Amino acid sequence: GFDVRNRKARRMTASARHGLDLVHQFSDLQAHRNGETTTIVRGEGVHVFDAEGNRYIDAMSGSSCASLGFRDERLVQAMTEQAGKLPYYHLFAQKSHEPAERLARQLSAMAPEHLNHVLFANSGSESNDAAIRIVRAVNISRGKPEKRRVIARHAGYHGSTTLSASVTGQAHMRFGSDSVSPDVSFIPEVCHYRHGHDGESEEAYAARCAAELEAAILAVGPDTVAAFIAEPVMASAGCLLPPKGYFQLVDEVLRRHDVALIADEVVCALGRLDSPFGSTRYGLRPDLMTLAKPLTGGYFPLSAVLMTDEIYDTLTLESAKSGLLGHGLTYGGHPIGCAVASAALEIYAQADFRANLHATIATFERHLAAIADCPIVGETRNAGLLGALEIVADKTTRRRFDAMENVTLKIGRALQKNGVITRWTRETVNLCPPLVISEDELEVLFGALRASLDQVAAEVAHEVEEGQASLA
Ligand code: PLP
Repeated sequence: GFDVRNRKARRMTASARHGLDLVHQFSDLQAHRNGETTTIVRGEGVHVFDAEGNRYIDAMSGSSCASLGFRDERLVQAMTEQAGKLPYYHLFAQKSHEPAERLARQLSAMAPEHLNHVLFANSGSESNDAAIRIVRAVNISRGKPEKRRVIARHAGYHGSTTLSASVTGQAHMRFGSDSVSPDVSFIPEVCHYRHGHDGESEEAYAARCAAELEAAILAVGPDTVAAFIAEPVMASAGCLLPPKGYFQLVDEVLRRHDVALIADEVVCALGRLDSPFGSTRYGLRPDLMTLAKPLTGGYFPLSAVLMTDEIYDTLTLESAKSGLLGHGLTYGGHPIGCAVASAALEIYAQADFRANLHATIATFERHLAAIADCPIVGETRNAGLLGALEIVADKTTRRRFDAMENVTLKIGRALQKNGVITRWTRETVNLCPPLVISEDELEVLFGALRASLDQVAAEVAHEVEEGQASLA
């Protein structure tokens, strides 16, 4: 007994030092054990501060959610007020509350014309789960229970619950074999830079991608395919943009085979792409649209599923038969989340906010164009304030660095030393700064980015030289 307590006390001292009681997420747990943990203690505007007092520009808006920065007083006030009035209620069993009703009204007013109904959840993952469940429920109601398969794209990210992970095309983001589902087919991601053939126009490439989608539907039989899930711009994959005309052709394929479109707008919506939604910018006509991250500016977990009248009517009919809609979450549509989201939507809709954002995007694009001349940058891409640098070893042949060199990890680490937090994939350095970033802060961000790229390019060149020397 006593001995065990002592051991536990010793362990607790060590873990307090390294934060090891906490299991981090999408993080290298061994690196945490080695003491590589940045503990964030405070936020202000686009900056966060760590426990050592270092200040960083967070060029990822946290996890692509803090569109209004890290301490917007209007949002804090909306949350505080709601907490003082009704800090919790649910939407079950014929109960309702004003914050959820108001937010649903706001969302359906701003959404594309055919999307008029809103279901709330807590996270992007859960909203995608709900969208998939809804499509399947509707098909069961239509007498087509076997029409339940989802088609998704490699490199797409849709979440970390069992169902949303099963449509996520990033193998390293999966966990456990339960996320490999027999009900899901994958097609290649879209990226003209990487996958366009020599001399192939964007339009021709788009047609080839749409044909791949149709072939995937036909391969399993349209009677088994319920939905195609897609991000308008593939965000975490490194800002992969739809080639010109892609979604128009996709729409034709989906209509032809009676397949629903789920637009995962968890990152793209609410101004990020200089447009209310990615769907409005790229001409998607989704049957269901999912929203999360910027919905509350990240200040509270809340997500939404927007759906058509037709889908809503079917759900109503079915729930009348059984007595209830067989889907719900204790915290789905939490009043504090809804209150803060209402405040955020009001800010996003302000004319000067939109004008500022537009100007910020122009500056962002100017910086991206300038940094494209770095020797290890193959291409820069952006849609609004979502951007990425494609990192290559050879600009002409577009050859990548050997994966073992971990070049993007090196860039990410150098950037953090230089005062900027960002995220990366094996091929890209990603940028998703708060929408409220100023011209001066963009200048600092891109200054740090250039310094870090130069630093790593020199480091990598040295390694290559060394390799050749040892071969000789
Ligand atoms: N969909 C997209 C496009 C995302 O980028 C993410 C998160 O990064 C999700 C869904 C999942 O959202 P959450 O982490 O809130 O479950």
